Amino acid sequence: MLAGIAVNCLGHCHPAVVSALSEQARQLVHCSNLYYIRPQARLAKLLVDSCDMDRVLFVNSGTEAVESAMKLARMWATKNGRGGKIITMEGSFHGRSLAAVCATGQPKYRKGFDPLPTGFQNVPFNDVDALRDAIGPDTCAIMLEPVQGEGGIVAAGEDYLRRVRHLCDEHGLLLIFDEIQCGMGRVGSLFAYQRYGVIPDMITIAKALGGGVPIGALLAKERVASAFTPGTHGTTFGGNPLATAAALATVSVLINEDLPGRARELGDYLMDQLRRLTRDIPMVKEIRGLGLMVGIALDREAAPVIDLMRARGVLANATNTTVVRLVPPLIISRSDLDRAIEVIIDCLKEVSSRG
Ligand code: PLP
Repeated sequence: MLAGIAVNCLGHCHPAVVSALSEQARQLVHCSNLYYIRPQARLAKLLVDSCDMDRVLFVNSGTEAVESAMKLARMWATKNGRGGKIITMEGSFHGRSLAAVCATGQPKYRKGFDPLPTGFQNVPFNDVDALRDAIGPDTCAIMLEPVQGEGGIVAAGEDYLRRVRHLCDEHGLLLIFDEIQCGMGRVGSLFAYQRYGVIPDMITIAKALGGGVPIGALLAKERVASAFTPGTHGTTFGGNPLATAAALATVSVLINEDLPGRARELGDYLMDQLRRLTRDIPMVKEIRGLGLMVGIALDREAAPVIDLMRARGVLANATNTTVVRLVPPLIISRSDLDRAIEVIIDCLKEVSSRG
């Protein structure tokens, strides 16, 4: 129920990914991205054809995708004679580079790393007034996760996202969606923004993109992407033939087998079952989430439940200490899901009975 922390969207060793990787490994594992790389171009086309963005930059991790988004936002701001402040949300997680820990709305990730980069402000999530108050003449962008993962599985409200978009338009700011955890089909649409119907200016993806092979990407609208010119930003491995071949196979399966639709259906089922079966377990405060990104919020630490589940063969982890995070592969069968639900309920009951 953890899928390598929302990475193994097609489970382990999916035949399409295995065959793409072995075929590519026989041809070319790496060549510099100074040259045209066929699977990279095909992946870029598939991604932009599947969303409202125009351009893609391939990188090697989620953090690097976020770092690229923030650099692009600031370069865009510089070229438009604006300040470079980026507003992000409390409870968010955007990665572990020095700038990403500043964007991340959880101070524990910054502790001990002074001096830190400046130009970031965290505001409460799902609070449009707090966001409006924080916007100043030096602001260039707002970045948020449509569904917060490390923050405890907290979805943005639909009305909230619409109003954030409106604020960005009103003040000429860029809207960046960090879909590293909630993207690639997990919440019931290939890109999380599509479930909300609110179009950002940039999107970061990673985790599930390569079906287990490390790869990240920044997608952007042309009017923003054009602030980068050759040489302003780059990476040796970004768009590497092996990683992009794996990602091309992964995204093709996600689309061709409508796994986002499956995530929506199974996610609704999972949440309905959990709500029904936890009604008489007082330590369960809330079942929440979107698609197959589900949290069981407890009134105490989640670790004892997680440990018990693991002993009984079901893997999950705790997010924000008190929330059991369930992010299974999108190919999970109904019977495996039912088996997991049975174990989860038993473990919740057992820990609850300890008082
Ligand atoms: N952004 C979000 C929303 C994440 O969930 C994560 C990782 O958990 C990251 C960024 C960082 O990604 P990575 O660990 O690949 O650097």
